[in-house]
Amino acid sequence: MEVKSAEFVMSNSAVDKCPNQPLPEYAFIGRSNVGKSSLINMLVQRKSLAKTSGRPGKTQLINHFIINKNWFLVDLPGYGYARVSKKSKKTFQKFITEYFEKRKQLVLAFVLVDIRHAPQPIDLEFMAYLGESQIPFHIIFTKADKLKPNACNLAVEHYKEKLLEFWEEVPQYFVTSSSNNTGREALLSYIHELNADFRQD
Ligand code: GDP
Repeated sequence: MEVKSAEFVMSNSAVDKCPNQPLPEYAFIGRSNVGKSSLINMLVQRKSLAKTSGRPGKTQLINHFIINKNWFLVDLPGYGYARVSKKSKKTFQKFITEYFEKRKQLVLAFVLVDIRHAPQPIDLEFMAYLGESQIPFHIIFTKADKLKPNACNLAVEHYKEKLLEFWEEVPQYFVTSSSNNTGREALLSYIHELNADFRQD
């Protein structure tokens, strides 16, 4: 897919205020510093559509971008645990769970993980939450240029083994690098195919 246009639409703190056009939508989410802004900018080939920043805890907003005037790319902030009760039951931030549970246009979520890091509990728990909520997701491994190809394969295999402790099947995944465009074509072609099948109920 060629990216002919990519425009910022709006930022919201509540899912009810998100754009209401019935366009297919893909959400990008991961821990802070995973390389999400860089990946989004790499996908759309814009230097700073998504704001790259080393600042953890930047404003917690749902950011909508419209691509080629026919699909939404959503940049969600880094997730973290929100403590909801005195019993310290851990959950994710409310606006994030509301987004996933209410957003009808959402086709799937891309959960980003840094290929160099061993599987982190918060990422695995977030994937478990998506699974329990029946929200389709795929994994995007970021920063592949930071490892040699063999080490990349090993890291992915290790991640898959960990996932198979919880999942019957390994979710679909993409290996990417924003530094050298690895994975760009694969991701965009994949989204293009899903867009063709999109029907909102
Ligand atoms: P975000 O907080 O998830 O949006 O992460 P950023 O996109 O701001 O990236 C965090 C840091 O990782 C920055 O210093 C980026 O330059 C760096 N980074 C992001 N993606 C890549 C990548 O694919 N390769 C390399 N080498 N560095 C990356």
